[in-house]
Amino acid sequence: MALVVTLAPLAGWAPVAGAAIILNDVVVRVYDNTGLPSLVRRTSLTRAAEIFARAEVEIGWVHCPARCGRAPSPDQLILRMTRSPATAMGLGSSMIDPVLQAGRLATVYVDQVDAMARRSNTDREAILSRAIAHEIGHLLLGTAEHTRSGLMRGIWTAEELRRNHVEDWQFSPFQRTVLRARLAAGNPARWNAGVPKVSPGRTGS
Ligand SMILES: [Zn+2]
Repeated sequence: MALVVTLAPLAGWAPVAGAAIILNDVVVRVYDNTGLPSLVRRTSLTRAAEIFARAEVEIGWVHCPARCGRAPSPDQLILRMTRSPATAMGLGSSMIDPVLQAGRLATVYVDQVDAMARRSNTDREAILSRAIAHEIGHLLLGTAEHTRSGLMRGIWTAEELRRNHVEDWQFSPFQRTVLRARLAAGNPARWNAGVPKVSPGRTGS
């Protein structure tokens, strides 16, 4: 579904003194520079959070810049909703550090989502929520790999969107186990050696 960009190890994520206590499993700062209607944005984020909730992962969205008065803390992820560059080949992208097998920045291309919604005759919130969950999924699973089925497959067709099978838009049982284990291992900035990895051979079912 998405073009996944791998980069050299990220740097410059300094701890923030006096950071607020976070009760959610994962806190994601959301930056929308496309001017989505508030209802569309909130509905999409709520539906994306529901996908994670079925994997027993609680996502807390922080709407920026309105509610982001300081730099991101080390355990916060970042979601950008923007228009696609000319080179975009999918609905979004995620930056995964190939050494740490972790990432903090996910991007969803709203114009590509809208184009897909028109082609498939489905609503934009449904596709946007799934694209968000897919890209955040890459960050939390720590891999750019795609699976043959489920939410983390690499290609979404208009027919799949129209038929709307629940299993097409969920994490697999193994992925749910990995998500929980990685969260239990600590904050995203420290997800590297010693925590479960996703093996392509085990996630395709
Ligand atoms: Zn992907």
